[in-house]
Amino acid sequence: MMDCDACGPLLSGWMDDDLEPDERRAVARHLIACAACRERLRSYGGIRHLLRSLPRPEPPRSVARTFHARLTTAGSHPALDGGHAGLVDWGEPPA
Ligand SMILES: [Zn+2]
Repeated sequence: MMDCDACGPLLSGWMDDDLEPDERRAVARHLIACAACRERLRSYGGIRHLLRSLPRPEPPRSVARTFHARLTTAGSHPALDGGHAGLVDWGEPPA
């Protein structure tokens, strides 16, 4: 799990869409969990980008249900080894 020190330097890249997919996912995951970094990102002036790309802190129930269902039905699928990476890609804003 990324911490704030690791997340901070990536926030400008996040705003510029200039991160590797892995970095983007890691930042997205951190932002979901970390209000401090969400606030930091907001303070950088990325409001418009933030609205487009920041994952909602609380996903709609349908999304949470789907996510939970996939987690619980996926079992020990080999592709999911390593912490369920890639199950949900929060990193791509809608076109
Ligand atoms: Zn943080």
